[in-house]
Amino acid sequence: MIRFPLLLNVVKSVWNPRKMILYTGLLLLIFMFVFTVFSYRVFYESYNAGFCDSMWICFLSTLDSAFKYDQGIGGFLKNPYEVYQDDEVKLVLRFIFDNFFNILVIIVMLNIVAGIIIDTFGELREQLQEYNQDLENQCFICGHDKETIEKESINLQNFSDHIKKEHYQWYYLFYIAYLREKDPTEYTGIESYVADKLDAVDITWFPLNKALCLKKDFGNEEEKNIVTSLESIKENAQELKNILVEIQTEIEEED
Ligand SMILES: [Zn+2]
Repeated sequence: MIRFPLLLNVVKSVWNPRKMILYTGLLLLIFMFVFTVFSYRVFYESYNAGFCDSMWICFLSTLDSAFKYDQGIGGFLKNPYEVYQDDEVKLVLRFIFDNFFNILVIIVMLNIVAGIIIDTFGELREQLQEYNQDLENQCFICGHDKETIEKESINLQNFSDHIKKEHYQWYYLFYIAYLREKDPTEYTGIESYVADKLDAVDITWFPLNKALCLKKDFGNEEEKNIVTSLESIKENAQELKNILVEIQTEIEEED
């Protein structure tokens, strides 16, 4: 079933809202019990012999017959026009009872349960669509979308090339497996850096929001300026060092 996500969603649409379905079921049982109390008191004679001898038996027969017959409980009980030929009040009460039971228990409550399941299924289907869209349009490693990669990359790179060659997620998994297999005493500098990050469940070693093929991620003006400034600082420091060495040599000569 894991191979068919849509089928899994069908099961999940019943399983995920189980609490809500259970509570609705409990409410349904309570309604049925109230109806049973009423029918046990008023329509005892409408039940076939032996189906309403005690409150418990009466409840079980109501529960059992409620969903088996087309008109709910009304289809199970004896025909009111035969049983209450001479009792108009009970005839009217049976009319109200049968219809009210049918509308509340069969139509409203069952449709609420169906609604909960359909709503959940709709939500799950949307999630699946979003997930599939992410899989097709977003790089799993850097998180850049298809449009950014294809429009802003240096060689106008194809998105499938990017996710199969530059940021192929399985290469990252192979690398993690390779690190796990390798003796830590033989790690190179980069490998021990990544291994430490893995142990700390830190994913900053992934190129998050960075791709070598994108101009905007690397080599922009600001970064170039920083690099130039650092280089000039380095040169100045070297000059200062030379001057100091010269001064030191002069002092030593004078001594
Ligand atoms: Zn990427």
